[in-house]
Amino acid sequence: MNKQILDSVVSLTEQKDLDSVGISLLSTIAEYVYFEKACLYELERSWPNPIITVLLELKVQSVEPHFVWYANQTLMQPATQLVTSIDSLKRSVTETRDGMTELWVPVAGAGKKLALHLRAETITTENKSLISAFARIYGNYLRVLVESEKDKLTGLLNRHSFERHLRQMLAKQASRQKRQHTNFPSREAHAEDKPWLVIIDIDYFKKVNDVFGHVCGDEVLLTLSQKMSGYFRSSDYVFRFGGEEFVIILEPATRSDAFKKLNDFRLEVEQDRFPLVGKITVSIGFAEASQEDYEQVLMERADKAMYYAKEHGRNAVYCYEQLVEEGELQEEVAIAKESAIDLF
Ligand code: GH3
Ligand code: MG
Ligand code: MG
Repeated sequence: MNKQILDSVVSLTEQKDLDSVGISLLSTIAEYVYFEKACLYELERSWPNPIITVLLELKVQSVEPHFVWYANQTLMQPATQLVTSIDSLKRSVTETRDGMTELWVPVAGAGKKLALHLRAETITTENKSLISAFARIYGNYLRVLVESEKDKLTGLLNRHSFERHLRQMLAKQASRQKRQHTNFPSREAHAEDKPWLVIIDIDYFKKVNDVFGHVCGDEVLLTLSQKMSGYFRSSDYVFRFGGEEFVIILEPATRSDAFKKLNDFRLEVEQDRFPLVGKITVSIGFAEASQEDYEQVLMERADKAMYYAKEHGRNAVYCYEQLVEEGELQEEVAIAKESAIDLF
């Protein structure tokens, strides 16, 4: 195999997280094809209300800076053709009226709908095949990385991948807000919508283990996890943080909508009958996931609201900001990164 190609494959698979592999893919292609723009798209939701995330975009220009990167931009009202191109999962090549070549290559990996898009003056047949091969390697590697981000027992995301997902959600939120400031019309996102950090803890779970045994306890964790996966949207990130504690990064919503969504979930759990153990309940705390605060502070706030629920009868949902406003909790002041307590 050509040494340069071999080196590219090595560098692609050397990366350890999903974002870095994407960067490596587009940089690798840039070494072979002189393109104007290359994008990695993810179709987060299809019709009737499609949402597309531009995971990564690389623009190449003749003036400085020659390479311009963009990441994690959400398109709330994407063009029909864009949705169709990603949704079709087919490779396509079109010549545009201005004489450019547009290449679409589907990326099959990890149950996500991704596509690679290139806009260039010309792309040779040989390069088209090369790009498709790189996209396949990327897809395969993506699958391995996505698996490594999952919790073994429940299949939910693991704690290890929390920081990356939080960073991604906050970056998407920043790009949404930027568009709102430029009056970009958006059907779904509103100024008061914010992402939320949620902690869900099973009530008296130790008793389940003590009375019915550890295997039965595991079964409850599994059933509850499946319930969460079915209930929350794929744009909410659900993690098993360890033991019987779950964390969710909830997509932007108003405080009352976030409360309703979580409270409805709590009620569903309460009304459900779990095999053998019967009824279980959960205590839920949530806090605003603002960009200004450190991850540890956000976790501590949601945790305080969850513990408030534990101390006030359990089987309840509380919002940290609301508890502070009502004088029930003292505000958790932001702490400098150097002196931050490492909770993990
Ligand atoms: P609280 O309502 O205050 O949350 O009470 P709790 O009993 O749920 O909380 P506590 O933190 O005292 O106990 C959590 C228990 O969860 C302890 C441990 O036995 C159990 N546990 C942790 N991880 C696992 C697991 O992977 N499988 C099973 N079956 N049990 C686990
Ligand atoms: Mg518990
Ligand atoms: Mg616990």
